[in-house]
Amino acid sequence: MDALTASPLCPAPLELQLDGIHFAAPELVVTATARQHVVACPGCGHASTRVHSRYRRTLADLPWHGLRVHLEIQVRRFFCDVSDCRRQIFTERLPKTAALYARRTARAASALEVIGLALGGRAGARLAEALGLAGAPAEILSVLSAVHAATDEGTDGHGDRARAGPRVLGVDDWAWRKGQRYGTILVDLERHHVVDLLPDRELNTLVA
Ligand SMILES: [Zn+2]
Repeated sequence: MDALTASPLCPAPLELQLDGIHFAAPELVVTATARQHVVACPGCGHASTRVHSRYRRTLADLPWHGLRVHLEIQVRRFFCDVSDCRRQIFTERLPKTAALYARRTARAASALEVIGLALGGRAGARLAEALGLAGAPAEILSVLSAVHAATDEGTDGHGDRARAGPRVLGVDDWAWRKGQRYGTILVDLERHHVVDLLPDRELNTLVA
């Protein structure tokens, strides 16, 4: 499979070695193995080569010719041998492939972000479904809220862009915690950015 290692099917060839592709109706499954020989401990930064265990991580990826694609990666846990490090065992990071704990690849998250900023949660989810991108409304809003949190760091939490006032506003319900507390997410559908995350679903809060 070496000839396929640099294939577009593998999101980050430096991090992953492509092992195979098979069709498991209705989707395409791409299997890959993390390939770095030496990884840095996230606690202390020291290099480790001592493998503790392996497990399989599944990520939704970009569709291929309209087919949904899942990436199944064999990922490793490593020992950190630095005696005073608080992480005795750690999971290897694959930053170019996907964020830690993410359920989709970074490039699939970017695609959902673009769709969500153009259409909002519900309409965005319908387009994503039609394109073969796995993305329920709540997942699209989750991607948008992560982007909003990242771009709002260092400001007063509302950002200068919000004050200019959007003309076309997307309003969606948003679960702060899965199934527990609901808020509202506001997306400027013309300028394509998240305006704000509101703490509840009350009309008065939205009007304010
Ligand atoms: Zn360490």
